Amino acid sequence: MTTNTKITFIGAGNMASSIIAGLVESDSAVEITVSDPNESQLDVVRAQFPNCHTTTDNHQAVSTADVIVLAVKPQVMQVVCEGLEPSVQKTKPMIISVAAGVSESSLSRWLGGELPVVRCMPNTPALVGAGMSGLYANSRVSAEQKNLAESMLRAVGVVMWLDNEDMLHAVTAVSGSGPAYFFLVMEAMQQSAESFGFTPEQARLLVQQTAFGAAKLAMESVDSAAVLRAKVTSKGGTTEAAINDLQASGLEGIFDSALKAAANRSIVLS
Ligand code: NAD
Repeated sequence: MTTNTKITFIGAGNMASSIIAGLVESDSAVEITVSDPNESQLDVVRAQFPNCHTTTDNHQAVSTADVIVLAVKPQVMQVVCEGLEPSVQKTKPMIISVAAGVSESSLSRWLGGELPVVRCMPNTPALVGAGMSGLYANSRVSAEQKNLAESMLRAVGVVMWLDNEDMLHAVTAVSGSGPAYFFLVMEAMQQSAESFGFTPEQARLLVQQTAFGAAKLAMESVDSAAVLRAKVTSKGGTTEAAINDLQASGLEGIFDSALKAAANRSIVLS
C-alpha cells in the first residue's frame, strides 16, 4: 500500500469498524479519517482506534482523501453521495461502496460521474477477520487502485473480483447472506442436541466446534465437500442414517430455492 494513503470512511458502523480494524492490524501506512453524524459512534471509534481522525463533517472528511469508503445504509446512500458531490468532483478519489444493492451507475450519478468506483459485498465474518468479499470495479479504476481496494478488503478476509456487476446479486445470495444459513443449521442442531439432554452450553460447544472443524477441514483438504462427506459416511452407519434423512427431505432443493430467493430479493432491492 502506498505510504500515507488517505482513506476516509463515511459511516462509522459495524462494517466500517471491521475494515478499519483490519487496516490497523495489517500495519498499512494509511491515514484514516472517519465521519459520522452520530457522536456516540465516533466515541466508539476513538476508543478503539485512537490514531484515527474523527469528524461529524463529511465534507471536511473527504476534502483530501485518496479513497472514500461509503459505509452507510443503502437507504441514506443517495443523500450522502449527493452531499459529497462538490468535494469529490474536485479531487476525484477512488470510491469504495460496501452498501448492498446500490448499483455503480446510481453511485456514479449521485456523485456527479467520472469517478473510479468499486462495489464491494462483504459479510459479517469480516468482524473477526474471516470475511468473504465480492468486488466489482468500473472501468475508471486503475490497476494500482484495484490493488489498493483489494489489500484493504484482504485485511478482513478473502476477496473475489467479478467482471460482471450483476454477479454481486449471486455473491449476496451465497456469501453475503450465507453466514445466516450456517447459523440456522447451528441453531437447529443445538436444539436437537438439547433434546438428548445436553445443557445449552454443552450443545453450543458440540455444534460450534463441529462447524468450525468441518470448515477448517474443508479448507485445508484437497478433497471436495462431497468426497469429505463420503469419507465419514460408512455404509449402514450412523452418518448415513442422518444424511439419508436430510436428503429425503430435499435438502439440496431447499438450499437452491433459498439462494435463488436471496438473489431475487437483491435484484428487487437494487
Ligand atoms: P451501521 O448501521 O452499523 O452503520 C451505518 C453508520 O452510518 C451509522 O453509524 C450511522 O450513524 C452512519 N450514518 C448515517 N447517516 C450518515 C451520514 N449522512 N453521513 C455519515 N454517516 C452516516 O451499518 P453497517 O452494518 O455497518 O452497514 C453499513 C453498510 O455495509 C450497509 O450499506 C450494508 O448494506 C453494508 N453491509 C453490511 C454488512 C454487515 O454484515 N453488517 C454486510 C454487507 C454489507
